[in-house]
Amino acid sequence: MKVFLDGKLVDQEEARISVFDHGLLYGDGIFEGIRIYSNCVFKLDAHLERLERSARAILLELPWSRQEIADAVCDTCRANNLTDGYVRLVVTRGRGTLGLNPYQCSNPQLIVIADKIQLYPEEIYSLGMKIMTVPTQRIGTGSMPPAIKSLNYLNNVLAKIEAVNAGFMEAIMMNNQGTVAECTGDNIFIVQKGVIYTPPTSAGALEGITRNVVVEMAEEAGLKIEERNLTRYDLWVAQECFLTGTAAEVVPISEIDGRKIGDGAPGPVTVGFMENYKKKVTRDGTFL
Ligand code: PMP
Repeated sequence: MKVFLDGKLVDQEEARISVFDHGLLYGDGIFEGIRIYSNCVFKLDAHLERLERSARAILLELPWSRQEIADAVCDTCRANNLTDGYVRLVVTRGRGTLGLNPYQCSNPQLIVIADKIQLYPEEIYSLGMKIMTVPTQRIGTGSMPPAIKSLNYLNNVLAKIEAVNAGFMEAIMMNNQGTVAECTGDNIFIVQKGVIYTPPTSAGALEGITRNVVVEMAEEAGLKIEERNLTRYDLWVAQECFLTGTAAEVVPISEIDGRKIGDGAPGPVTVGFMENYKKKVTRDGTFL
């Protein structure tokens, strides 16, 4: 496999970065996860725009233009003959000292890894996924804004460990106000009395690209969709619930904290989004 690193494509064994890179030492850096469907990079511009926002928020000046980053993504897919898959785009702070100061770092690294994607098992999409709320809270917007897609995912990793240890694949994280933020790697939606709700980014949700696509699809279909703070109770009594993410797409939820959602099978609104999303991904892309 070829990996893009330091301006060129190299064999994966040759793709090495400095142990002094603050991406490694402090999780100081940013990333994007992007999908390729039928030779098209889905929503590439939206991903690069979010990457730029993350960079701006952590005062990391990107030494590459948006076009140069887009070219790196496309070149890496082509070099690996990838027509369908997943791209991990990483920008590190670069090499620094053992101290924390990012201003002493130089040489931020742009890394592009393109590979096949392993989705959840097929039965999750037909039967729904059981999930739980976990004790680890999503880090507060005043501590480290979850809107920054940073390399520092320990908060999410701790929540994931709690879920996996309890026998679940995903976890719902609450914020320090006690309302729902998001899952460890996905956004969350519920449907109640014909209205679709998702937590606002101020509650600690990432502005997911897939989340935005769901908002677009709802508006196109004339469905009511609103951002609202949600409690655990709201989740427990929801008629439908689903997760969204670049890798997972639209995932139906059948049970939360032991409470069946709706009748325990994927509901009609969720199934509609799942089907429509599959059509969208091949339409709105940048050709390789
Ligand atoms: N929340 C978190 C914490 C994530 O890491 C992700 C991406 N994996 C998402 C939500 C979903 O965002 P997107 O739809 O842009 O993949």
